[in-house]
This record gives sequence, C-alpha cells and structure tokens, in this order.
Amino acid sequence: ASFDPSALDDLLTRIARDAPRHFGEGNVASYIPALAEVVPDQFGIAVCDVAGRVYRAGAADTPFSIQSISKLLNLIIAIQHLDEADIWQRVGREPSGQAFNSIVQLEVERGIPRNPFINAGALLVTDLLVSRIMSIHWVMRELARRLAGNPALAFDTRVASSEMAHKARNAALAYLMKAYGNLHGEVDEVLDVYFHGCALSMSCVDVARAFAFLANRGVHPDDGSVIVTPQQNRQLNALLLTCGLYDAAGDFAWRVGLPGKSGVGGGIVAIVPGQMSLCVWSPRLDSYGNSVAGLRALETLVEGLGVAPLG
Ligand code: GLU
Repeated sequence: ASFDPSALDDLLTRIARDAPRHFGEGNVASYIPALAEVVPDQFGIAVCDVAGRVYRAGAADTPFSIQSISKLLNLIIAIQHLDEADIWQRVGREPSGQAFNSIVQLEVERGIPRNPFINAGALLVTDLLVSRIMSIHWVMRELARRLAGNPALAFDTRVASSEMAHKARNAALAYLMKAYGNLHGEVDEVLDVYFHGCALSMSCVDVARAFAFLANRGVHPDDGSVIVTPQQNRQLNALLLTCGLYDAAGDFAWRVGLPGKSGVGGGIVAIVPGQMSLCVWSPRLDSYGNSVAGLRALETLVEGLGVAPLG
C-alpha cells in the first residue's frame, strides 16, 4: 500500500477524538420511530485496504441501519444476476438534483427514475430482483454476510416493520411507477424487500470490508473472488460519484472527491480506487440526509491521507 499503516491508525484515532466537536449539529432521521430513537452522538470510522487489512477507531464495531447503502448492494445483485440491458431500460444513470425520496421527476419522466441510488430507482431495481430471483431476502443477506466476512450480520426487523408502517411515500413512488407500467410486481412485496435491505444492520468495519472490492477492480480482497467485472466496477464507481449522495452529490465530489454512498442511518461509504474503502457513521444528518460528523471526518481523512483520484 502507498500509505503507512501506523500513520493511518493515528489519523483515524485523531478523527474519532475530534468527531464530538460536531455532535449537536444536525438531527437524526425522524421519518420512522425506530430511527428517531437512535442515540445521536455516536461516531465510528473504518478503513479496509485492498489487501483486506482493516483499520478502525471510535464505535467502528457498532451496528447501524445501513439504509440507502443497501441501494448499492441491490444494484450489485442486479448486475450479477440480470441482463444489464433490462436494468438500464427501466432506470437512468443521471444525477437527480432532487431529494432522495422525491416524486416530482417521476411524473415528468413517465415513471423512469433518474438513477438507482434514489428511492424510486432503488424500488425499481428491487422490483427487478423480486421478479427474477427466488428468496431475494436470503440472497441479499447472504451477499452482505459474504462481502463483509461476517456470518452474524442480520436484518433489524424492528426497523423493517417501522418502515412498512410508515410506507406511504415509498408506496406512492412505487405505485406511480406501476401506473406507468415500469414497475411490474406487487407494491407491498417490493416495499418489503426494499425495507429489509434498508434495515440490514452493519458496522463501519462490516461496510468497509463489504465494499473494499470496489477499490480493487471488482475482486474481493479476502479470497480473490470476482464480485463484478472491471468494467462493471468502474461503472459502479462512476455512478456512486455522480449519484451516491442524493442532491448533495456535487458538493460531496467537491469536498471529498470520491465515489460514495450515504444512508439516513448516518453511514457513508467511500471508495479510493486502487487503495481502500472507507466507512464513517454518525447518526445526526444535515438537511440532505447525510451525516454531518461523517462528512467532516471523510474530508479530514482524505486530506490526511493525501488521496486524490481526481487529481
Ligand atoms: N428507508 C429510507 C427510505 O426509504 C432510505 C432512505 C435513505 O437512506 O436515503 O426513505
């Protein structure tokens, strides 16, 4: 690796020590009770390099609700199992410039969501998975377990039921796409699978390990298995860079300059191609739904490591 392991440990320790400075800024997600009850002032950070070595600080082993990070997992399953032409006929690849759960473009664009990393797009990808893959809950959880190397990884069923009990907005997105003939399955079945993905409980270490292959041309660092082809890997990173942080994707590229995906559980995963994956977690969110302390930590980490894939 092109970095010094003990310097990285020191840097992570310093970032975790400074993180409480941002505690108090922003608010935890409140759209479901199960997330509104999360203790707000927590922080974890983990790095997994392309040799599979893990570095960590703070509450890096505390599981959190991965939420939108599951959109990445679902897209990976889709490109592993389905004909890619089928996927890209039904969902776009452009940044939306709208909130993660926005409905406004869906009518204008006749039920074709802008990209797989906003709710409408993730629901559409989930619809594809539900129609083509048997036991999709199981496939999703097994892939997360295998990628993270953690056989204990599980769904937080309280979060999943809380999402279902407050499904109105996501149901509206799904029904509108169904009305346009783009979403084919039963809306409640699609929502159930989508919400279970959001409700996967993973720690920073789990998430960093799970997506380290994206820094390694699609090859899992632990066992050398091919998760996606080099071309698919490059495409996933491109999509993460342009669409991974909702309507703050441009600002994230400006501040951090890496492909990344955030979730309203307060987690953010970012990829340094050729070097490592990073995961930060802190539950308080800014108005875009991105972790305040997490974003700050990523800025400091990237600066401290001197990584600059964009030059
Ligand atoms: N479960 C959330 C929702 O569907 C996920 C949103 C997110 O993390 O962006 O509203």
